[in-house]
Amino acid sequence: MTGPPVDFDRLRYMRCGTCSHEWEVGAEWLERFDTGDEPCPNCGTNCTSEDRPDFWVRPQDPAHDDDTVRARYWYHSSTHAVWPDKNFDPAAQLTDETKRRMEHAGLTPGAVKRWAARQKAKALHVGTYEAAIENMLRRMDDQSDAASRFYLHRVQLRSDCVIEPGIHREPTDFMGDAHLEGKCGPGVNVLRYVNVHEDPSNVSLAIEISAVSRVQSIPIPLRVDADDPGLRDATARLLAAAARCTDPGR
Ligand SMILES: [Zn+2]
Repeated sequence: MTGPPVDFDRLRYMRCGTCSHEWEVGAEWLERFDTGDEPCPNCGTNCTSEDRPDFWVRPQDPAHDDDTVRARYWYHSSTHAVWPDKNFDPAAQLTDETKRRMEHAGLTPGAVKRWAARQKAKALHVGTYEAAIENMLRRMDDQSDAASRFYLHRVQLRSDCVIEPGIHREPTDFMGDAHLEGKCGPGVNVLRYVNVHEDPSNVSLAIEISAVSRVQSIPIPLRVDADDPGLRDATARLLAAAARCTDPGR
């Protein structure tokens, strides 16, 4: 059970939507591309075109291989300590007034139940370690989650999960939700997609809860216990070393 080495600054892989040229780029190239100053090196299509170059997954990426996808760890960051939560009831957050309106005062009975079932069938998203951390940092940067406690969840898939062939575009609708049903073959509970937002040009997965074998969760950033004896020793040594540096007479 391994994963790729952690690297937040790796080169990104691009594919041109016009001429299909594929190549690697660095952060500076992407900055110039986003301002319209750098086009596809093969055909000259820039960021203003509908068929613009976009992030793509390298042909040699190990995530093309189903056995690797099943063997690897996948990550998700969340403000929920328990994730995914099998007992989650989406209707619990609705007020009685909202429920009454959803059922049109009794004219469409069962509407709330159907809505809740659809909410529960939403795909979960997991990706690389870097993608999970970048997602957390982006949410912290948005004022609403600046002070939230986050959790990093490490996921192992079931050895019998069913993976849709190929790597796809992110399967989300305008609400940011993904449903695998209707998009994949029968029984599929894992869909690979190229992540263009976090750790771009690497593979993330939209999965159903039935594909999950095991989840390990830790709070991040880790809480530090100031009374830990090992930490106290290390702090004392650091302070002593700092005192020696600033006091050449000692
Ligand atoms: Zn091109």
